[in-house]
Amino acid sequence: MQQRYKTKQIHIGNVAIGGDAPISVQSMTFSKTHDIAATKAQIDRLALAGADIVRVAVSDESDAYSLKELKKISPLPLVADIHFRYRFALIAAESVDCIRINPGNIGSKDKIKAVADACNARNIPIRIGVNGGSLEKKFERKYGPTPQGMVESALYNIKLLEDFGFQRIKVSLKASDVGRTMQAYRMLRPKVVYPFHLGVTEAGTLMHSSIKSAMALGGLLMEGIGDTMRCSITGELEEEINLARMILKYSGRQKQGVTLISCPTCGRIEADLVKAVKEVEKRIAHIKTPLQVSVMGCVVNALGEAKHADIAIAFGDKEGMIIKGGEMIGKYKEDEILEVFINEVEALAKERADV
Ligand code: SF4
Repeated sequence: MQQRYKTKQIHIGNVAIGGDAPISVQSMTFSKTHDIAATKAQIDRLALAGADIVRVAVSDESDAYSLKELKKISPLPLVADIHFRYRFALIAAESVDCIRINPGNIGSKDKIKAVADACNARNIPIRIGVNGGSLEKKFERKYGPTPQGMVESALYNIKLLEDFGFQRIKVSLKASDVGRTMQAYRMLRPKVVYPFHLGVTEAGTLMHSSIKSAMALGGLLMEGIGDTMRCSITGELEEEINLARMILKYSGRQKQGVTLISCPTCGRIEADLVKAVKEVEKRIAHIKTPLQVSVMGCVVNALGEAKHADIAIAFGDKEGMIIKGGEMIGKYKEDEILEVFINEVEALAKERADV
C-alpha cells in the first residue's frame, strides 16, 4: 500500500478533508430538498449509518431557500449540489458548509466568480465536480469524454478559482466506469495540491456499485489517492455508507470495526454456517473496535485462520470450539455456541476499547 498523498486540508463544517484527516464518507439525500421533514429524516438515517457529510440537490428556488432551515437542524455538515443555475449557489452559499458545482453546466467565468466570491465571504469550500458525461463543450469537442478531457476541465476550473483568489477547493473526476475514473484521478493527482473526493458516478445497484466502487475507489485509496468518498448506489442510503466503510477498511485506510472471515463452505461442512455467520455479522455490526473475527465450517482451515484472528469459531459435529488469541477457550454445543461467542466478541471489543 502506498503512502497517502499530502493534500491541502480544507474543512466542510467541522469535518477536515485532506492533509492527515481521516478519509471521510458522504452520501446524498434523494428527497425533494424543499420537503424539509423528508430531507431531515434522510439526513438522520445517514448520520445513524455513520456518514460524515451529506449533500442535497438544489434543483429550484424553493430547494435553495430551504437550505437555511435544513442547516439549522442537520446533524451533518451540509453540501449544496448545484447544476445549471449559479444563482442557486449564491443563495445556498449563505447557509451551507460547501457548494458543489459542475463546471460543465454552471456557465460563464463571471458566474463562477460570483459563486467564488459568495463562498469566500463565508470561508466555505467549493467542490469542482467534473463529470465525464457532462464536460464543457470545448473540452468535450477536443478530448471527448476521456480522462484527459476530465483533467483539462478540472485544471481549467481550478485555475479560474485560483485567479479569483479562491483556494478552498476539492475536486472530483467521476466517470461511470472504473477505467476512466481511475485514470482521471491518477492523472490529476500529481498536478494539484487540493483534496480529492472519490466516486464512480451512476454506479448502479448494490452488486454493480460494490464491484465498481471497490475496484476504482479501493484501488485509488491503496495508491494513496483520495481524501473523501461517496459510493453511489441505486438503493438504500445506508448501503452507500456501509460499502464505503468496507472499502476503507479493506484498502487499509480505516482500522475501525470488525473484519469478519468466514469460509465458503464445502462438503466437509459440519454446521449451518451461512445462518451462523449472518447472525454473528448482524449482532456485532455496531462494534467500532478493530477486531478480526473468524467463523469457519470445520476444523480443516479453522485452526490456521484462528491463529491470525482475535477470536474464532471452528465448527465440528454438532458442536464447535471457540479460540481466542490462538488458545481454545472452550467447546460448546451447536445450539449454545453463538451466544457464548457473541458475548466473548463484545467483551473483547470492550476490553480493547478500554486499554
Ligand atoms: S473450513 Fe471446512 S467447511 Fe469451510 S471451506 Fe474449509 S474445509 Fe470446507
